[in-house]
Amino acid sequence: MNILIVYAHPESQSLNGSLKDFAVSHLQAAGHNVQVSDLYAMQWKAALDAGDNTAPAPGPFKPSQDSQRAYKNGTQSPDIAAEQEKLQWADTVIFQFPLWWFSMPAIMKGWVERVYAYGFAYGVGEHSDKHWGDRYGEGNMAGKRAMLMVTTGGWEPHYSARGINGPIDDLLFPINHGILHYPGFTVLPPLVFYRTDRTDETRYAHMRHELAERLNTLDSTSPVPFRQQNGGDYDIPALTLKADITPERKGFAAHLK
Ligand code: FAD
Repeated sequence: MNILIVYAHPESQSLNGSLKDFAVSHLQAAGHNVQVSDLYAMQWKAALDAGDNTAPAPGPFKPSQDSQRAYKNGTQSPDIAAEQEKLQWADTVIFQFPLWWFSMPAIMKGWVERVYAYGFAYGVGEHSDKHWGDRYGEGNMAGKRAMLMVTTGGWEPHYSARGINGPIDDLLFPINHGILHYPGFTVLPPLVFYRTDRTDETRYAHMRHELAERLNTLDSTSPVPFRQQNGGDYDIPALTLKADITPERKGFAAHLK
């Protein structure tokens, strides 16, 4: 398999750095081709702006329209086009990051905002009152798998159903559903390492073991059963779940089959 790791941590000697190095060698030893987008090492430009199109249109900068034009005309900034090529190359993409303020580090959010161009990750397919684009299970990433690998400072119970931080699946929903499922990825359950700030050798060995297990089963792990937008469960164009589909469920969980 071709595996891309999009990785965000500023320190190579961090826990995340060690886990990333372990993942790369483990995957390569198993015969996979691996590329890493090490966003801090690449000094990735996080802010989306007019400079992302090498041939900007005259007049005020319009982020979506400019992204669409640059993608269509082949005038995207080369760093964006290079990351899109890596995504096209990959069969599986792993997004690895420490949980910072309940989400991904800003540099990774900036990667998503810039690389996920109009026509590439959104604005794909027919848009009409009958078909609201190829998204949420369809799109250019269809057929590829993706998985989050996250470290937290907080303890596992803090992220449980009644934990003070909120359930981890809810916190990660905007990433898993909004960033991965949206352009078509098949989303694997996240690998979360909790309470990592005081990791000792025993705990680190346990993490490596757990990580190896997930890496060994990337192509066989059952995905998160997100519903497909165009799979018949939603009224279009309101894009609300049909009245007879799990009427008792509301919020994020309703979008799981
Ligand atoms: P490091 O600090 O590098 O290491 C953690 C521990 O692992 C240390 O004890 C280190 O000695 C040990 N270690 C490192 N490498 C190895 C190795 N090779 N072998 C054995 N042990 C090793 N947490 C939350 O839960 N929720 C939040 O919203 C949140 N927000 C944050 C916001 C910011 C801005 C910051 C800086 C932190 C936040 N945290 C939060 C905590 C953060 O998630 C953790 O600090 C982070 O996940 C730890 O990962 P790291 O790679 O930075 O660990």
